[in-house]
Amino acid sequence: MALIVQKFGGTSVGSIDRIEAVARRVINAHQQGHQVVVVVSAMSGETNRLLGLAKQIDEVPMARELDVLLSAGEQVSMALLAMAINKQGFAATSMTADQVGITTRGGFNNAEIDKISTESIQSLLDNGHIVIVAGFQGRDNQGNITTLGRGGSDASAVALASALKADECQIFTDVDGVYTTDPRIEPQARRLDVVDFETMTTLARLGAKVLQLQSVEYAYQHQVPLRVLSSFEDDRTTQGTLVQMKSDNQTSIAGIAVLANQHLFSLASQAEKMIWQSGGIASQLWNNVMDETNSSHVVVSDADLAQLKLAHSDELHHIDNVATLSVVGNAATECEQAMLATLAGEGIVVHKVQHLPQCLCLLVAESDHKRAVKLLHAQFVVAGLSEHEPELLAVS
Ligand code: ADP
Ligand code: ASP
Ligand code: MG
Repeated sequence: MALIVQKFGGTSVGSIDRIEAVARRVINAHQQGHQVVVVVSAMSGETNRLLGLAKQIDEVPMARELDVLLSAGEQVSMALLAMAINKQGFAATSMTADQVGITTRGGFNNAEIDKISTESIQSLLDNGHIVIVAGFQGRDNQGNITTLGRGGSDASAVALASALKADECQIFTDVDGVYTTDPRIEPQARRLDVVDFETMTTLARLGAKVLQLQSVEYAYQHQVPLRVLSSFEDDRTTQGTLVQMKSDNQTSIAGIAVLANQHLFSLASQAEKMIWQSGGIASQLWNNVMDETNSSHVVVSDADLAQLKLAHSDELHHIDNVATLSVVGNAATECEQAMLATLAGEGIVVHKVQHLPQCLCLLVAESDHKRAVKLLHAQFVVAGLSEHEPELLAVS
């Protein structure tokens, strides 16, 4: 008998039919003799709907009340799933993060899990229950509701798996694993059987939202066995992608991560740029104040736009909608000139280039980014992988 944590994302619980399908999958694991803890996200679109309501009142809503509001989405899913499992004759109990005892630190909206009490879950499991926990939420040491940042149910699942010493943390989503790039942009993307934690961390940081960054970092640090699977397919057809410690197999380029919906602005002065700080990845990548070219330019994500406008409404000049493409792998930097030549050959302008360890980031116009991904993927990712087939390992 194993203890398994299964997490289901928004599209996996997006309708009553989907929730009933999840119930059957969870019951199936339970019937195989496993103890099962399920983590659910809000039904797809629900968190954005709630955020939209808040923004009708205040473009930058109060952080505490925003967390009270957004955490409600997960509570709907957990109750509906518990009802669906009970209806099929199996005992299931849903629990909020507060009921479980998931304590967070680091304030509102982007909190980190600090501690989890496992007693209540363990006693329900020992009594034969399937336990369903609301993802994305926690409580701080003052008793306030907190949330873990967008996509944060992945972090809930990994942290629970670690606290419960689960045999595996299974992230069920709408694709059957981690691909060499977002398969919705490039249908030719390849599924990776295995990806190492360092590569996965870089991919997740730079936009591969199939796994939320904090969940990968947590799993890496606490050595949680982590697997990405599809909730839309039969378990027997694919083993998904296993995220594991480094292995000896190396591929030169593992994949391409994409951060779309970014905006390139110029501010009135370099001083203005230094005043404006955002912890977001776009800002970390492109707004380094030491940067000498385009010195008063800033790149902001959609999420940070309201903050920037609030701080600098008079001095802002919008230049372009942009996207960041990040080519990840130990050969990324050495392929830089060839990549730039490929893109230039197709008339794609690269606004800026940034080097990170085992990663090359390119800032291109939003309107060019899908074409650029397809070109780079065909020429630099697929070509590199075919040397390693049939294993399709991505190890940086
Ligand atoms: P969930 O709601 O289940 O948490 P997400 O939407 O957060 O699902 O993550 C799944 C999505 O991640 C996929 O639909 C896919 O478009 C996107 N994605 C981005 N990069 C990758 C990648 N490298 N491999 C797989 N999926 C990716
Ligand atoms: N519902 C939250 C979101 O949409 C958390 C999650 O889905 O993991 O970001
Ligand atoms: Mg997600």
